[in-house]
Amino acid sequence: MAIYNLGSINADYFYRVPHLPGPGETLAATDFTRGLGGKGANMSVAAARAAARVVHIGAVGPDGVWARDRLTEFGVDTRHIAQLPDTPTGHAIINVDDHGENAIVLLPGANHAIPETTLAAALSEASPGDTLLFQNETTLQRQAVEMARNLGLYIAYAAAPFDVAATEEVLPYLDFLILNEVEASQLSEETGKDPAALGVKDVVVTLGSKGARWIHDGQARDFPALPVTPVDTTGAGDTFTGYALAARDRGFPMEQALTLASRAAALMVTRVGTADVIPDLKEVTEARFRAPD
Ligand code: ATP
Repeated sequence: MAIYNLGSINADYFYRVPHLPGPGETLAATDFTRGLGGKGANMSVAAARAAARVVHIGAVGPDGVWARDRLTEFGVDTRHIAQLPDTPTGHAIINVDDHGENAIVLLPGANHAIPETTLAAALSEASPGDTLLFQNETTLQRQAVEMARNLGLYIAYAAAPFDVAATEEVLPYLDFLILNEVEASQLSEETGKDPAALGVKDVVVTLGSKGARWIHDGQARDFPALPVTPVDTTGAGDTFTGYALAARDRGFPMEQALTLASRAAALMVTRVGTADVIPDLKEVTEARFRAPD
């Protein structure tokens, strides 16, 4: 089986600055690092590290060949990442000051210009029972769910960054919906519907340090967070999603898939960074957590 992930690929440019720049100010950064990011890329890396076969569907510009190569190094199938000649790779300029406060400028770039032919070519290789995963950082979502439904794929959506219209458009197609606590409240407030009453077979609400809740056939089951000392929660949700869907794709029952995802996400919050530090399956299965407080 395989996971076809229609997902964003971003270059994250981190600049360390003495303070966040004000209007009209020119400021010298004291440090610079570049990392692979984007919710789509993070989820592809997490699912590949969890030993699933992952086909990433996306696009980069001429400046993004390194990002595609990085995904390949993580074991992701990158044949269906288009290289666009005239569109920059999606990127985030992240200024971080000495107190850890940040200010971010995000350009979707190639993530909003993925050719429909790239999506169709990738999904033409899929078999019934494979997974289509997508998030809300690319375009082509409606086309993807329509193709996936015709092909008999399992359709999974991480509704982030949250947008009520985008979510409602794909809701009737979904087998699996994952949201964090804030996104779940926004969905309830803006549609008047509780996550349990959406008509989606499996709904997972992640609750940060409080764990995660799985709602299946109207029944809720909680998966407590493992006790760790968090240093950076960035990418915890993406790691959780990638691990959960990889484990399901590899035949694990949902309970076991979500237990493994909780372990992976707990390890992830003990690390600084995003895609580059997502733990591999050996680290996740061998990790020893302290007893709950
Ligand atoms: P992000 O946007 O930072 O990637 P998110 O908001 O999508 O994260 P969260 O709900 O914060 O997702 O976290 C996802 C999962 O990570 C949680 O369900 C939990 O299993 C794990 N997790 C998050 N924070 C902690 C923590 N402090 N300790 C242990 N596990 C955690």
